[in-house]
Amino acid sequence: MKRDYEYIVLGLGGLGSGAAYWLSRRARAEVLGVEQFELGHVRGESEDHSRIIRLSYHTPAYVELAKLAYDAWATLERESGEQVVLRTGGLDFAKPDSLIPLDTYRDAMRACGVPFEELDAREIMRRWPQFTLTDDIQGLFQAQSGIAMAARANAAHRRMAIANGASLLDNTPVTGISASGDEVIVETARGRFRCRKLVIAAGPWSNRALGSLGVELPLEITREQVTYFASPNAAAFAPDRFPVWIWMDDPCFYGFPVFGEAGPKAAQDAGGKPVTADTRTFDPDPDNLRGVERFLAKYLPGALGPIIYTKTCLYTLTPDRDFVIDRVPGHDNVIAAIGAGHAFKFASQIGRLLSELAMDDATNVDLAPFSLERPILKMKNPPKSYMV
Ligand SMILES: Cc1cc2nc3c(=O)[nH]c(=O)nc-3n(C[C@H](O)[C@H](O)[C@H](O)COP(=O)(O)OP(=O)(O)OC[C@H]3O[C@@H](n4cnc5c(N)ncnc54)[C@H](O)[C@@H]3O)c2cc1C
Repeated sequence: MKRDYEYIVLGLGGLGSGAAYWLSRRARAEVLGVEQFELGHVRGESEDHSRIIRLSYHTPAYVELAKLAYDAWATLERESGEQVVLRTGGLDFAKPDSLIPLDTYRDAMRACGVPFEELDAREIMRRWPQFTLTDDIQGLFQAQSGIAMAARANAAHRRMAIANGASLLDNTPVTGISASGDEVIVETARGRFRCRKLVIAAGPWSNRALGSLGVELPLEITREQVTYFASPNAAAFAPDRFPVWIWMDDPCFYGFPVFGEAGPKAAQDAGGKPVTADTRTFDPDPDNLRGVERFLAKYLPGALGPIIYTKTCLYTLTPDRDFVIDRVPGHDNVIAAIGAGHAFKFASQIGRLLSELAMDDATNVDLAPFSLERPILKMKNPPKSYMV
């Protein structure tokens, strides 16, 4: 077994699979990916049929990054011959006094030249009679929004990485990392590997992996859940008739047209309880589910129906909900990425950025907002703002 590589990727969830793919496009057989569980496992953050992808974001930096995300997915689609993004259009809607102001989204899209429509409640219900809204509700509709086909995209990233010559090891926990000079030693359940640059994309296990390098971040891991409903009106929620949607308030709810299962999916964002990745359970939280059902009963009653299933999943939340994409301080040959509970849409683009940091020591994107050195990540008990 080859033991020396130019690049090793720790963790093959959404971001790590993206990094392995983008590294392999240039470095071929010099890439090793190491995953502690089976490939495609459901203990992390990235495995379901669908995740929302959208240009609609609260800062110009995220809007610009989202433009690049569509481009990265298009590259994967071209090279793999597989569709991984489905455009359905997306509706962000809210009351005037909502805790997630639509204004910041409107301003950020305007600043970045992204076209969108401002819709009042009547127009929303004219286009999508599935909604029952009060007159004070306003919405922003952006036509490029849609579904990033998460499980399919992860599998495509990994398949293409292997086709490019990379080696991917499953069921291989990394148990220790030491970085010095030009070399990183990665200890695993299958022995020791060596590389020039290490990419850490460990999701909810990030602090454990970074701990080997003396870094501990104020992350909160929460157990989130999504529910598929067997709506008796499933045809009305087909992706060509119904958009992805986000209710911009606290609590924040979001949902999808029918995709992957026989009914629409809905969930609360960041509504889960703190857990650890190793001790979490997979049991649905009934209170969380009731909140989603109450919301649907009020605003999207036709989506409700018998529960097909509720699937739990983890968020790795930074206190400001911004990503980490950076070199590990004091260890220039180790790069880390953390998704902060909204990174799937960017998985291929973040993978591309990680590959550029590893191979070129630079990217064309300003990564300052995602720095590991930002003050809030140095605080022991930072204020948390998850609703952005
Ligand atoms: C319910 C839910 C809904 C979401 N909705 C959206 C959405 O609509 N849009 C959006 O953009 N994002 C969404 N997200 C967020 C997005 O899915 C995550 O930000 C993203 O998937 C994070 O990917 P990751 O690779 O960082 O983490 P993971 O997918 O968890 O990958 C980390 C991997 O590292 C491996 N690993 C860790 N430690 C080790 C080790 N020591 N050795 C070997 N392997 C290791 C793990 O086993 C795991 O496979 C959602 C997340 C959830 C849970």
